[in-house]
Formats: sequence, structure tokens, C-alpha cells
Amino acid sequence: MSVSVAASPPRAWAEVDLSALRHNLGVAREACGCHLMPVVKAGAYGHGLEEIARALEGEGIEFFGVANVGEARRIRHAGVKTRIYLLGATWSEERAEIVAQDWTPCLSSINEALHFNELAADAGVRLKVHISVDTGMGRGGFVAADLPGHMAELESLEHLIIEGLGSHLPSADEDREFTLAQFAKFESVLAELGGERFQWRHLSSSAGLLGYDNHACNLVRPGLLLYGVSPLPGFQERLRTVMSLKSRITLVRTLPAGHGVSYGRDYITDRPTKVATIGIGYGDGYTRHLSNKGTEVWIRGQRCPLLGRVSMDQIMVDVTALPEVAEGDEVELFGAHIPVAEIAKKAGTIPWEIFTGITPRVTRVHRS
Ligand SMILES: *Cc1c(COP(=O)(O)O)cnc(C)c1O
Repeated sequence: MSVSVAASPPRAWAEVDLSALRHNLGVAREACGCHLMPVVKAGAYGHGLEEIARALEGEGIEFFGVANVGEARRIRHAGVKTRIYLLGATWSEERAEIVAQDWTPCLSSINEALHFNELAADAGVRLKVHISVDTGMGRGGFVAADLPGHMAELESLEHLIIEGLGSHLPSADEDREFTLAQFAKFESVLAELGGERFQWRHLSSSAGLLGYDNHACNLVRPGLLLYGVSPLPGFQERLRTVMSLKSRITLVRTLPAGHGVSYGRDYITDRPTKVATIGIGYGDGYTRHLSNKGTEVWIRGQRCPLLGRVSMDQIMVDVTALPEVAEGDEVELFGAHIPVAEIAKKAGTIPWEIFTGITPRVTRVHRS
């Protein structure tokens, strides 16, 4: 007889609204008129890789962008058939599987191209690949000025089909002038090589697709905006919140004036204070960098200030302003009322890092 152990109800969970995700995909599509490669690396930015891939599969997309073969495998095991594109340079040990599965790498070097060509020859197939060109990111790709000199050799590799040219923007949300120059550089590389030889031409992630003219491209690679956050001002109101990070109050007490709260006693009450203890902490990805930064949480329709330091599993907030507050009350750490961008700013980081920092202890609850 097997003994069943009841699952502990989660103290912290992340609600993921799949209809908001699909709405945001529509915004991406309308904003640039390009084909779409939703980026689902890092567990779809912490939103749940399999669930997000399944939710987007039928939405007329061309590729999913992933970081490595482990993520590609998970998408396939979830039964999703959409083509898979590997966003960065590949590790040599990953390549045989990429060829066998017909996933699409982007090539940054002749060595990679030669190896893929050899593996494809061994497998008796022709592998579709994209060429990555470095127009300023400095992370991968053929340096733009060098690529034309390599093109003949790349095209001589009979087991590769060069079907795309891609590049990446490092400062689309910070430096318009540089980014415009990058678009121009990408266009001139296309002109020099003959753009029509590439079925897919892509440069933009979220900021590039929202804020710039993508006429030189026919594919975009949005990540963050699908998850409801605009990296550029002026577009946020078009997007819908996808993830809400939530927890519950586990305890409500009134502390007298002069009482310390949390490790280090950074916060000392200056009056009798009603303090709620909440079941989430940095062990869940609610980062400790939020301590003593004026961070707020949302309870019963109001903002309530975080008190003292975030601990591993618990935080304390001031709920003196909430007469009806009770144990079990739901708390939003970020979501529709507390924007994740606000939390990221207070923590001295970016929304991408907040999303991907949510740990496995946090149950993801998907709603369609
Ligand atoms: C992560 C990534 C993206 C998506 O970027 P967002 O800013 O989240 O839209 C697009 N392209 C590449 C190459 C990436 O690494």
C-alpha cells in the first residue's frame, strides 16, 4: 500500500494569465507587422516553459526562441511541434542532438558551421541554420565587417541550408541613436549579401520591435513584452499583466512603539503598529534587495509598506491602516496593482531578473 502525503498548500504562488499573454502577442504582431519568435528561455521568464509554449503554439508563430537544448527538449516533451531556435552559440556537445531533432541554431563562427555540416552529413540530412551577425552586441555572431568574407565558405557547406540572418540590439531601450545606426548596419549587411537569400531576417527583441521601424526584417523575437512589461515608456498601457506574485498573511499582531522588526532591527516601530507576517521571502525570489527601499505590497485594495529586511521565507508589512485585515488575507507582491517594473527598480535590477528569479518553491497557477 502506498502512503499518500497531502501536498502542502503553497505559501506563495504566481498566477499566470494566459489570455493576457495572448493579448500581448497580438500587440507585438500589430506593432511591427513581422512574423513572431516568442522567446521562452529561462522557463518562459519564470512563467512556466511548457504551459507558455502550449498556450502560444496555435497562435501563428514561426519559432520558439530558447537558450539551450534542455529547454528545447522540454518543449518537445510537452508535445509542442513549433520550430525551435537556439538564441546563442551552441556548445559542441549539444550539436548532435540539435541536428537529430532539427532544431535551428544560429551560427557565430566557421568552426560551428563546419561541425554542424559534418554532423548533418553523418545523419544524412541538411540542417536549416541562421547566421548571427554582430552589429554591436558583442556577445556572439560574426563581426559584421568580417561576415561577407566568410559567406562563400558558409554557402559551400552542402549539409547546411542558410535560411536566416539575425542580430541583436544591446541598447534599444537606452540609446536611440546607436540603435538606429545598428538597424542601418543590419540593412547594409543585408544589401551587401543580398537580403533575398535569407528567408528570415531578424534583429529586434521587445524594445526594438516596439520602438523602431523593422521594415528590413520579417521576424522579431519578443520576450519581456509578451510577459506584460514594456521596456520602453509609452507602450505599457497597451499590455496586460501576465504574472501576479501572491502570498497570504500568516499572522497579524500589534507591536508596541520601539519594537524592532526583522533581522538587524533596521526598522523600529515609532508607534503601536499592526504588523502582518506574510509567507514569502527571498527563498521564493522576492529579493532581499527590496529591504528598506520603500517597497510596498497590495492587501485589501491598499498599498502597505514592507518593514525591515526580507527574510528567507517571511516578510513583515505595516497593516495599521487596514482595520479588517486578517490571517489568510491574500497579498499581491507584484502584478496588476504593484507593477513588476516598480519592484525591479526598488531592488536595483530589471524586470527580466525579477521574473527569472522566482524560485521553484513558488507554485505557478495558469489560467486560460
Ligand atoms: C532574450 C533575448 C530576446 C528577448 O528579449 P526581450 O528584451 O525580453 O524581448 C531576443 N533575442 C535574443 C537574442 C535574446 O537573447
